[in-house]
Amino acid sequence: MGNYAIGIDLGGTNLKAGIVDRDGKIHHRLSIRTDNNADPQTISNQIFELIAKVGAGFKPALTNIIGIGLGSPGLVDKKGETILFSPNLPLWRNIPIKRMVSERFSVPCVLENDANAAAWGEKWVGAGREADSLVMLTIGTGIGGGIVINKKLWRGVNNVAAEIGHMVIQMDGPKCSCGNCGCIEAYASATAMVRRFKESLKSGVPSSLKDAGEITAKMINDAALQGDKVSLDIIKETGHYLGVALVNIMHVLNPEVIVLTGGMIGSGDLLMNPIKQVIKEKAFEASAKETKIVFSQLGNDAGIIGAAGCLLNELEISV
Ligand SMILES: [Zn+2]
Repeated sequence: MGNYAIGIDLGGTNLKAGIVDRDGKIHHRLSIRTDNNADPQTISNQIFELIAKVGAGFKPALTNIIGIGLGSPGLVDKKGETILFSPNLPLWRNIPIKRMVSERFSVPCVLENDANAAAWGEKWVGAGREADSLVMLTIGTGIGGGIVINKKLWRGVNNVAAEIGHMVIQMDGPKCSCGNCGCIEAYASATAMVRRFKESLKSGVPSSLKDAGEITAKMINDAALQGDKVSLDIIKETGHYLGVALVNIMHVLNPEVIVLTGGMIGSGDLLMNPIKQVIKEKAFEASAKETKIVFSQLGNDAGIIGAAGCLLNELEISV
């Protein structure tokens, strides 16, 4: 029996692989850019090549590899074998990637939704390692989620649970990427924050970013740190919306820990303080006192570590 698992994090723009030991430590890693409009054959070939390369570059070699965990964006079928559909990889439909990887390398493979995999990483060796229950929100271009209950990922009856970004907080709110209106993603993702910022600028308020061209969430964060009032207000408002979503989660699940990750957490306390303020005001008292709201400890590594952890967990080798 080997001592390492390979964790793969398949994203819309990057494909990352790492060799992870039984304690969740990454020993070797590689990453390549992917074209999200490439056909499934091209992308799966890239996955095969990356697995082979990351294995070849690691001294204990592929014979020491227990198996491969693959985290993918989009919907995974009930059996955890096929990627049914991924908004980030539009041509990727009904791909039996678990079998493809497993047969190619003759080792067990586990396929998991990427946000679930990242949540498992934080549960295993990150910000939620002491907790039995955890909810994670990945706040970036969109908002993803993962739920761990009683030390197990909660996938729902059809493997589509934890779509936290599509929790509706305002019935007549802005249109979301999913087609519904008023989802938390349509208010508090980086994309939504930039949209609200631009709307504010149009109203004529002064800002250091007035003539800055194409605005990004990072630019808003940097301007806020320099004291730009509109930027500060927009981040505070984003925290307020997230706080509302977190109160809903707390009232439904009452988890021990809620972990926040993704590009937006770069705003630090500017984002966290209004989140905690809303929770203080709106959460039931016991829930507000007990649930810890924390930032991720694994950051961008959560996907690789979590995917490897899902494999080890499936084989009952680790937590
Ligand atoms: Zn939505």
